[in-house]
Amino acid sequence: MGTSLESRAEQAEEIVDRLEDTYPDSTISLRYSSRLELLIAVILSAQCTDERVNEETKDLFKTYDGPEEYANASQEELAEALNSITYYNNKAKYIRSACETIVEEHDGEVPDTMDELTELSGVGRKTANVVLQHGHDVVEGIVVDTHVQRLSRRLGLTEAERPERIEAELMEIVPEVHWQQFTHLCIDHGRAVCTARSPDCSDCVLADICPSERGDSEIDLASGNSW
Ligand code: SF4
Repeated sequence: MGTSLESRAEQAEEIVDRLEDTYPDSTISLRYSSRLELLIAVILSAQCTDERVNEETKDLFKTYDGPEEYANASQEELAEALNSITYYNNKAKYIRSACETIVEEHDGEVPDTMDELTELSGVGRKTANVVLQHGHDVVEGIVVDTHVQRLSRRLGLTEAERPERIEAELMEIVPEVHWQQFTHLCIDHGRAVCTARSPDCSDCVLADICPSERGDSEIDLASGNSW
């Protein structure tokens, strides 16, 4: 079992340092060429892999151009275009409705505030944070997806369970300059090493400071259960 550094803030900084060395090119893996495409890709990525979303949006982004076209598409047509994505029916509804709002209330532009974004259908704080960070260069918070949630708990940065609470706690200990990158680093490490089912602790750069490390620790702090 690794030993956490004295304070959570020190632990967070050390984690960022080590992961930055390990994943120097860490960044968003969704593909898009405009703010609207980014928004749509992030809506589609809920409970779906980025790889699958990128595969599906190759054609989608060629077929539809601008919010009017999505807003005017029929539900059947748009759902059919998304049918390899999880919950494609609901996501098609969200996209049509969000684009309608963008056309009617925002002059066809993806809004640039948390409040306006979260008023769009299918857009919660996580999606809004991604769009603000990568679409508008505005960093208001930390994107907490399933990897950030799992790693933050395993590494002793938080004991909170809900993403909103985890985000608030992380914002207190991760230096603001790293808020955006923290997410990408956790995602890369979560995919490559600290996977949900069988983390490879023997090959982890964080093992000596990780209180969940499987060598000696009996508990996975992400779930609170035994390994
Ligand atoms: S792989 Fe193991 S040691 Fe590394 S962060 Fe995950 S649980 Fe901790």
